[in-house]
Amino acid sequence: MKPKLVIVGASYAGLQLAASARESGHDGDIVLIGDEPHAPYQRPPLSKGFLTGGFAEERLPLRSPAFYGEMRIQ
Ligand SMILES: Cc1cc2nc3c(=O)[nH]c(=O)nc-3n(C[C@H](O)[C@H](O)[C@H](O)COP(=O)(O)OP(=O)(O)OC[C@H]3O[C@@H](n4cnc5c(N)ncnc54)[C@H](O)[C@@H]3O)c2cc1C
Repeated sequence: MKPKLVIVGASYAGLQLAASARESGHDGDIVLIGDEPHAPYQRPPLSKGFLTGGFAEERLPLRSPAFYGEMRIQ
């Protein structure tokens, strides 16, 4: 049975851990658990360009939806 990796905290660190584990050869399930209603998103723009309309909401996600499928990250 392949080991499952469960990561609590779906932001920069958690997402990078998930991606790095997959890229390093982890072949079992990877489950990324967050407590926010959004997929992992960039935080710095929230207090900068996003407030003034210079940073579109569509650019906030750290990764595209396709990324999670390609990397098999749930
Ligand atoms: C508005 C804003 C502007 C910023 N600007 C800058 C900047 O200009 N430059 C800079 O270097 N840094 C900036 N930062 C800081 C930067 O965003 C953080 O350093 C970075 O987000 C840390 O990433 P992280 O993955 O370690 O933690 P976090 O981004 O804090 O992610 C932790 C995640 O874990 C989740 N979580 C926690 N406990 C649980 C639980 N029990 N169960 C499930 N989920 C849980 C949280 O909801 C969160 O989504 C900014 C932050 C904010 C909020």
